[in-house]
Amino acid sequence: VKAKSHAYEVQISANRLTEAVKSFDQQLSKADKIIVFTDENVWRLHSERFTAEFPYPFKVNILEAGEDCKTFESFFAAQSFLLEQKCTRKTFVFAFGGGAVGDLTGFVASTFMRGIPFIQIPTTILAHDSAVGGKTAINHPLGKNMIGAFYQPQGVLYDISYLTTLPEKEVRSGMAEVIKHALISDEKWLAELMATNSILDFSQADLAKHLEQGIRVKASIVAEDEEEHSVRKFLNFGHTYGHAIEAASGFGKLAHGEAVMIGMVYALILSERYGTIPATVTRSFIEFAVRNGYSFDAVKQFTFEQLLDYLMKDKKAEYGILQFVLLKKIGEPFVQQISIEECQEIDGLLRVLIK
Ligand code: NAD
Ligand code: ZN
Repeated sequence: VKAKSHAYEVQISANRLTEAVKSFDQQLSKADKIIVFTDENVWRLHSERFTAEFPYPFKVNILEAGEDCKTFESFFAAQSFLLEQKCTRKTFVFAFGGGAVGDLTGFVASTFMRGIPFIQIPTTILAHDSAVGGKTAINHPLGKNMIGAFYQPQGVLYDISYLTTLPEKEVRSGMAEVIKHALISDEKWLAELMATNSILDFSQADLAKHLEQGIRVKASIVAEDEEEHSVRKFLNFGHTYGHAIEAASGFGKLAHGEAVMIGMVYALILSERYGTIPATVTRSFIEFAVRNGYSFDAVKQFTFEQLLDYLMKDKKAEYGILQFVLLKKIGEPFVQQISIEECQEIDGLLRVLIK
């Protein structure tokens, strides 16, 4: 990943965490302390194996799981932990967990003594997205990811053998972001995913292949536009309407990717109008989603007016116009302004399609 501050590697492997961590020996052997941030679920499932495989002495800070670790309280507690452990600017931090652990750890690392180095060890599929690209954040009661920094890790070490314990809901959530990366980049790859019997039980080799492809898409976009002035916006495909559904449902109830899947269908319907996506593509995409257990029931729980409140909270909503990422065709994203009236119309079309 070629970021402005430095370039770093994303390593994808299975059963070789020790070697992956050791590839940072030059930096780690100079560190005065190594701290591992993780969450209660990941640590319950993997502490023994991780401790046996991690090649250096470390202290662990166990966070609450999910969005509960992205709070001000948890941020403060994490900083207190680092101070109590007498950490310095020579301390090295690892994030061992999903996107929530990664976001919190990255933000803590970016601010502790004005910035100490950190490495991501992602344990979810979704984290192929979140661990790469340097967006770090915690949540504010008035908005998700509102307090944060662009702060790149020193590396991302994916050992996908740690992902075998992921609950199906989280596999589905993460695969939605893989599908997003296919939709915005590569028609052939999307066709391959859609032709797969079930995207929830890939072999490790196939999973590694799809994660690598997703990471390549993300990395090339980040290299071109790290701070989201232009093409990085494309990564928000499916996220405008998806976020509204996720927020209306209450964060954490619906997994992030499950909501994004709904948002991607919404964006496909819009893309029929503003791009050249045939209606048949949207229909077969919905079939593909349903076949893999994605649910559209959340839409039915809210009226458009209720969702609109959340759509208007989108960081990009201004003067009654909303910004959507759409597709000219599969693999060719662009940004389009859409009026609230048209948003409502598309919401109606979506409701008919998922009946
Ligand atoms: P998460 O970290 O909350 O993990 C989801 C759940 O899976 C948690 O309960 C966790 O304890 C559990 N888990 C993690 N690894 C496991 C494993 N190997 N086995 C069993 N259970 C495991 O969430 P996530 O879905 O990985 O990521 C979502 C977060 O990522 C959100 O906070 C979102 O805002 C953030 N995000 C950030 C970016 C970015 O660019 N920084 C991009 C996308 C999403
Ligand atoms: Zn997302």
